[in-house]
Amino acid sequence: MSAQLLDVASVPAYIASQPHLAALVDASTLTVVEVGDGNLNLVFIATDAGGASLVLKQSLPYVRMVGESWPLSQDRIIAEARGFDAAVEFTPESVPAYYGLDEPRRVIAMQDLSGWTVWRRALNEGRISPGAAAAIGRYVARIGFGTSVFAREPGHVKQAAADAINPELRKITEDLVFTQPYIDHPDNGWHPEIEAEVLALRDGGLVDEVGVLKYHFTTHAEALIHGDLHTGSVFVPDGEADVAAKVFDIEFSFYGPVAFDLGAFFGNVIIAQARAAVLDRPAEFRDWLDGLVGEAWEAFEAEFRALWPTRTDTFYSDTVRDRWLRYTFTDAIGYGGAKAIRRIVGLAKASDIETLDRADYTVAATAVLRTARAWIEGRETFATAADLPRPLR
Ligand code: ADP
Ligand code: MG
Repeated sequence: MSAQLLDVASVPAYIASQPHLAALVDASTLTVVEVGDGNLNLVFIATDAGGASLVLKQSLPYVRMVGESWPLSQDRIIAEARGFDAAVEFTPESVPAYYGLDEPRRVIAMQDLSGWTVWRRALNEGRISPGAAAAIGRYVARIGFGTSVFAREPGHVKQAAADAINPELRKITEDLVFTQPYIDHPDNGWHPEIEAEVLALRDGGLVDEVGVLKYHFTTHAEALIHGDLHTGSVFVPDGEADVAAKVFDIEFSFYGPVAFDLGAFFGNVIIAQARAAVLDRPAEFRDWLDGLVGEAWEAFEAEFRALWPTRTDTFYSDTVRDRWLRYTFTDAIGYGGAKAIRRIVGLAKASDIETLDRADYTVAATAVLRTARAWIEGRETFATAADLPRPLR
C-alpha cells in the first residue's frame, strides 16, 4: 500500500492538519509550488501571505526520472528522516532546519532554502563558495564519528545499522555506481566521441579495483552515512549565512563506509574542474576548485581528531585512529573516481558536463574518465590531496 500522494492543491489542507507545521506558516494563505527537479521525489514549497515558508518532501512509489515502470518503496523517506535525526543530533546547522517525519504519509518537512543555491548549479555558473568544502568535511566527520562504535555502545550501533539497512537504495548505488558503468547496460549512454574511452574502462584491471571498492561499500558498516553526497545534495548560501554549506537529500543513508561520503564529493570536484577548464574559467575560480578536495579532507581530519578524545572505547588507540584515517582517505579517492565515472557513463548524469557543447563535452568527459581512473588505480600511492591528478592541468 502506498501512502496517498500530495499535490499542489492538497498541501495547504495537509499543513493545516499538522499542528507543528501550521504553527510555522499560515495555512489559510499558502501558495504552493512543486520544485522537485530531482530524480526521485516530490518536493513542495509552501509560502504564506506573510512570506513564511516551509518545504515538504514526499517519496513517490517509483523512480521519478524513469516512471512507474521502476517501482521503489516510499520507505526511503524514513531513511532520509534518520539522516536528519543524526544531523540534528551532531551538526544541526549543517542541514535545513528539520520539522519532522509523518511516517504514515511518507512526508518530511524542513526549512525552505530557496534563498540558497544547489552547489552544482553555483559551480556550473563559476561561483566561488568559500568554506563550503570544509563545512562538508566537518559534517561527515561529526556524523561519521558520532554514529560509530568510537562514540557509541557497540550493541546500539549494531541495532541502529540493522534498522537503517535500506537495501533498495543501496542496490541502486551498487548497480549504478559500481557495476553498470563497466558492463553493457541499457541505462548507460554517452556521445560517440568518447566511446573508445568508455570501453577502455573495462580493460586493464580497473574493474577489479572497482570491485574491491564495491565490496567495501557493501560490507563496511562503520557509521550512518549520507550515501549520496554529491554537489547536487548541498546548498550554498547566496550571502551571509550561519554555515557555508547545508546538506540535504539524505534518503540513501545507511550504515556504510564514511569514505563513501567524502568520495562522492571528491568525484564531483573532478567533474567541476573539467567543466571549468574547457570553459576557460578565471584562474581564481580554477585554483579554488583545485583546493576543494584538500579543504574538505583537512576539515574532516581535523574534526575527527578533535572528537577522538571523546571516544567511549579507549582500546581504540591513536594508531588505530591514524590507520582508520589513512584507509578512509585511500578509499575516498577510490570512491571519488568511481562516482566521477558513473556520472559520465551511467544513469543520472552531471549537468556540469551534459550542458557543454559537443567539442567541450568530448574534452571534459575524456579528462574526467582519465583522471578518475588514475585516482582509483593510484589511490594507495597519494599521500595528500595535493598529489591527486587533476583534469586538464
Ligand atoms: P530528490 O531526492 O528527488 O533528488 P531532493 O531532496 O534532491 O529530491 O530535492 C529536489 C530539489 O528540490 C532540489 O534539487 C532543490 O532544488 C529542491 N529542494 C529540496 N529541498 C529543498 C529545500 N529545503 N529548500 C528549497 N528547495 C529544496
Ligand atoms: Mg536530489
